[in-house]
Amino acid sequence: MLDDMLEYTEHLRERPVWQPIPQEVRDTFSEALPRLPCDLAIVHDRFMRHILPYAVGNAHPGFMGWVHGGGTPVGMLAEMLAAGLNANLGGRDQIPVEVERQVARWMRDLFGFPPCSSGLFVTGTSMANFIALLIARTATLGVQVRRGGIGGHRLVAYTSAGAHGCIAQAMELSGMGSDGLRVIPMDKLFRMDTLLLEEAIIADRNAGLTPFFIAATAGTVNVGAIDDLSAIAQIAKRLGLWFHVDGAYGALAMLAPEIAPRLAGIQLADSIAFDFHKWGQVPYDAGFILVRDGGLQQDTFASPAAYLQRETRGLAAGSPWPCDLGPDLSRGFRALKAWFTIQVYGADKLGEVIAGTCALARYLQQQIHDESRLELLAPVSLNIVCFRYCSGDGLNLDEINGAIVVALHESGIVAPSTTTVNGCLAIRAAIVNHRTTKADMDALLRETLLLGYGLTKKTREAAI
Ligand SMILES: *Cc1c(COP(=O)(O)O)cnc(C)c1O
Repeated sequence: MLDDMLEYTEHLRERPVWQPIPQEVRDTFSEALPRLPCDLAIVHDRFMRHILPYAVGNAHPGFMGWVHGGGTPVGMLAEMLAAGLNANLGGRDQIPVEVERQVARWMRDLFGFPPCSSGLFVTGTSMANFIALLIARTATLGVQVRRGGIGGHRLVAYTSAGAHGCIAQAMELSGMGSDGLRVIPMDKLFRMDTLLLEEAIIADRNAGLTPFFIAATAGTVNVGAIDDLSAIAQIAKRLGLWFHVDGAYGALAMLAPEIAPRLAGIQLADSIAFDFHKWGQVPYDAGFILVRDGGLQQDTFASPAAYLQRETRGLAAGSPWPCDLGPDLSRGFRALKAWFTIQVYGADKLGEVIAGTCALARYLQQQIHDESRLELLAPVSLNIVCFRYCSGDGLNLDEINGAIVVALHESGIVAPSTTTVNGCLAIRAAIVNHRTTKADMDALLRETLLLGYGLTKKTREAAI
């Protein structure tokens, strides 16, 4: 199995990024609960024939859809070790918890957070944002909110129109409701308009509401914009709100010296959510929440329970435990694959990979600029390029570009995704994978032009 997977990662480029799933393959997954044992080799064979060829393909260099990391063989091996150890990182006195604490300290230092800060591995940034929102709620209403709920308080949060949907979802999950989220418009560079932010907070306060939480974004999911974190930090400080940064993929650009200055202000955040599984190249899943005031994080989640009694010696020592910092009690050893990845490649190398994906995005941007049949739809801030095929007067460009992307997926050559930018359907290339090269950018351009020509030709003929 190990040989198979090493072989797979070595020869990724020879496979399609993705391929349509034959119905016969899908049907094999409707078999009933197996009562009797089956030889491991047979199940492994099913994996090789029916699962491996039909995954999303984000390890492939041609994958550039959504924001997906590529993973590494080092991360894969660390996952194997973690699974073999079968450690439960909820708590107790064990070195695996020290590994997680060490990664948390590395992140604390990277983001310039103080020694009293705390960090926790979670599934992803969706969960990390949710945790941050709950801690901000504790900071605003006090620990008694855990028993009494928010009662008559009308808590209001702020984010930009470019924010990820999980911010609104966090408001829903918390019971505060997404009506309590003010979606602040963006400026021309797709950043939160900070003047409008400040006006909105003051208006809400004057109306008797309780503004409490600002979620800025470092690397918006649509176009990769970075909010003006310093300005937002000042507003939060002046008006007494919690300053959170959703840095799902962008925050780790702190590792790249040429990009880090653009995150200025992130070190002032009360909390930062980010994913090691995106730009950090750690295999799924490996989200992280870093909180400036670790005491508040404990105040939000720690619970006394007889069966979780703490001691100063023996296995039940080592308090506070990770389960005191978030809603999960049983937790896997996610920290190990991040710990291995950071050590084996080194933080500088990870930063170079991040900067490299941004350089590829700029290359792609330049090619689009030089090609009259293609049009750039948003400025390229980091590693995301939104563009479209625009040749063919009077044709429905949204339809054509949507069809181009489906055909690209089915070609198996490259896999961008789509989004809507200023009302136009965009082909969106998010370059995250360390394996992606200029040749993949060239393939994207070549195939887009070929498909665009073919599709508009058909549409032109149909119109006649
Ligand atoms: C990916 C992403 C998220 C969601 O993170 P998950 O790890 O998928 O839960 C949130 N915000 C931004 C900006 C993202 O790019």
